[in-house]
Formats: sequence, structure tokens, C-alpha cells
Amino acid sequence: MKITIISAPTSESNYMYLLVDEATKEAAIVDPVHPDKVLKAVQEQGVNLTTVLTTHHHWDHAGGNKDLLKLFPGKSLVVCGGDDRIDALNRQVGEGDEIQIGSLKVSCMFTPCHTTGHICYYVRGESSETPAVFTGDTLFLAACGRFFEGTPQQMYTALIEKLGRLPSNTNVYCGHEYSVASLKYALHVEPNNPAVKKKLEWAKDQRNRQLPTVPSTIEEEKSYNPFMRVGEKSIQDYVGCTDPIETMGALRKDKNGFKAK
Ligand SMILES: [Zn+2]
Repeated sequence: MKITIISAPTSESNYMYLLVDEATKEAAIVDPVHPDKVLKAVQEQGVNLTTVLTTHHHWDHAGGNKDLLKLFPGKSLVVCGGDDRIDALNRQVGEGDEIQIGSLKVSCMFTPCHTTGHICYYVRGESSETPAVFTGDTLFLAACGRFFEGTPQQMYTALIEKLGRLPSNTNVYCGHEYSVASLKYALHVEPNNPAVKKKLEWAKDQRNRQLPTVPSTIEEEKSYNPFMRVGEKSIQDYVGCTDPIETMGALRKDKNGFKAK
């Protein structure tokens, strides 16, 4: 599989991802908020776009779906998502549903909390290939999305019981470039965690050179992302809880009020 990172020129620092099955040149686009850039990438790479993978209904993820369809007239693009509020949705998916992109298998993971219909997409190629997951606004590098329509229990299920159980080498492609600010918060929570310090220095350097910080891996996230570490004593001590789900809720509330210097 080949994954191209396309940054959306919005104030939201969104990422779109072009996923290509190199064997057949069939392609899918994740959260095409800026359709013109998608068209350009599809033409440049000479691939056959068949599918839109929408993580959730927020405008900065799903807001380009309708215009994207107009840019591909005569093609019946399949628009997947887990929420009927998603623009141009024509294939509603849920937990465990499979989507085929050429030889690539995409499994839908239902991860409600940021929104009630949020889906993450887990992609596998041949067994020798490193898998990938598109996590939208559920899992960010070193953080997670806000709980607009869900509970700490739901985010715990999503991060710990679902995403956390993917193979540790899975590449994580999240919905926004928030990494430096997220890692500053992670360092505030765990000032003595060397994995946080190291990733923050690296992320600052990447951004100074205008390079993306994605993808990370599931293994890396478990080493520095406080929301993936709610079972650790250091995190529980920070919020003053001993229960991982309460810790998840308290940590999210604390981050909502945190201003990175
Ligand atoms: Zn969102």
C-alpha cells in the first residue's frame, strides 16, 4: 500500500490521505475536505479513485464530499461513513464491516465519543506489509479528540480496547497536525517520561522544516500518549484517580483547560 499525506489548507490543520493499492492502482481518499487537492493527487499518481473513507461528520472532515463527487463525474464513488450526518454518504458502515480497495482490506472500527458515529479505518495489505489505521479525531499523535458526543468509557473502549489492541507496528494516521501542542501537554502530565521529551523535540524539528509528524505507531502512542496510558500510575497520580476510565475523563477535562506555552 502507498499512503500520501495531503495537508488541507484550512485553519484546522487537517490531513487528508490518499490510500493506493499499488497492485491494482485502486485508491481511496480519507476525509477529502479539499477536493481540488485530491483531484490533483489522483491525476498525478494516475490512480483509480473508487472510495471515500469519512471518519466523522464534522465539516473539516466530511465537508468536501459533495464537491469531490462533482469533480469525478460519471464515477459512482462509494462514500463510506458511520453517521447519516455525513455529506453524500451512500454506504453506512459499522464495527467490523470490510471494504476492499483493490487487494487491500479495510476494516471499520466503530469508535464513538468525539461524535456518535465516528469510524476509524484499519488497513491491511499482504501479510508482510505494515498495517495502517486512519484515526480521524479519535486518536491524535500524543492526544485524543474532545468528547463532544460521548463518555470517558467510550474513549477508553476506543483507545485501549480497540486501537490499543492493533499490532504494535501499525502506522497511525490521524486527522490533524496537533502534535507539538499535544506533546507539550503530555510533558506537563509526565515531566519525567523520556519518550515524551524525545518525541516533542523531534516533532518541533519536523514542524520547523514544515514536515508532517504523521504517521506514528501504536507502540509509540503507548509510550507517550497520556490518553493511551490511563492505566499507568504516573498518569493516575497526576489526575488523582485510580480508575483508568475516571482517569480518562479527568485527563480530557484537564487538557481542555490547558494552554501550551
Ligand atoms: Zn471532529
